Amino acid sequence: MEVLLETKDIKKYFPLRKKLFQKEPPGVVKAVDGISLRLYKGEALGLIGESGCGKSTFSRVVMQLIPPTQGEIWFRGERMTKKNLMEFRQRVQMVFQDPYSSLDPRMRVREIIEEPLRVHTKMNAGEKLAVVRPILERIGLPEEALEKYPHEFSGGQRQRIGIARALATQPELLICDEPVSALDVSIQSSILNLFKGMQKELGLSYLFISHDMSVVKHVSDRIAVMYLGRVVELAETKELFANTLHPYSQALMNAIPAPDPAAPRKAAALAGEPPSPIDPPPGCVFHGRCPHAAERCSREVPSLREITPGHFAACHLHAGKGGEDL
Ligand code: SF4
Repeated sequence: MEVLLETKDIKKYFPLRKKLFQKEPPGVVKAVDGISLRLYKGEALGLIGESGCGKSTFSRVVMQLIPPTQGEIWFRGERMTKKNLMEFRQRVQMVFQDPYSSLDPRMRVREIIEEPLRVHTKMNAGEKLAVVRPILERIGLPEEALEKYPHEFSGGQRQRIGIARALATQPELLICDEPVSALDVSIQSSILNLFKGMQKELGLSYLFISHDMSVVKHVSDRIAVMYLGRVVELAETKELFANTLHPYSQALMNAIPAPDPAAPRKAAALAGEPPSPIDPPPGCVFHGRCPHAAERCSREVPSLREITPGHFAACHLHAGKGGEDL
């Protein structure tokens, strides 16, 4: 399989604000703390975790909207730098969470979708319209929508407009940051099906970020589970659900509403809040909330190891099994 995007040990630390007369920042927030992932061509890779775990910061670093503190981003076998940033932005587009604030209310739909073409190409008005029309049809909006403003559409339709804008430059990869969390549940599935259809028809790849395991399960070929700035488990979607290894992933699975609420749960619901990313605990960062925590867990950081082929977990419960670190 061809690797489309690769992140190598990405870290993003935000220095805390200095107080008056302080020379150095009093500490850093470790929002992303060493993420190495590969995303293959045509694949939908889900990234799941509680809010505040660093997944949106990671997406902004990958999109190169903010620089990493450490680490490298590779796209199509080439290391990304300022020199190839414009080309990267053409090949990789972003779909944002909030369809209400991500569209400029003063622009018509046609101008919104054409905006990336204005930035990245020298197309004339007729050429741009020729690109926009089939995209509008693909996302399920009528041609009359082109001359309307965002406020004339529902939340689901606005998100479709956001997706159309992302498609204008014919990208290979869409980074979708909580793209359905602001929508009614009744509309979410139609948008998720739109993503799945485009993956098949256009050969698109996705980095699909969400806090909702049922949403990620619906669209992803593989899922990476994130906790406090790190990936703690990574596997194909079916495998992750059939053989969940990490206690944190088990707790996330447990939070998915069951069709039969009386059915027994496999793991206890998560207790407590995640620790502060300013001063993360030593050892496994999950040990304060983990029902299986042992003495070793509070002093030794578990590495992300391949436990069975393609299934990685960072947990001492599985130490000694499997092979290489990721
Ligand atoms: Fe729990 Fe220890 Fe595994 Fe961390 S390493 S998830 S604390 S058992």
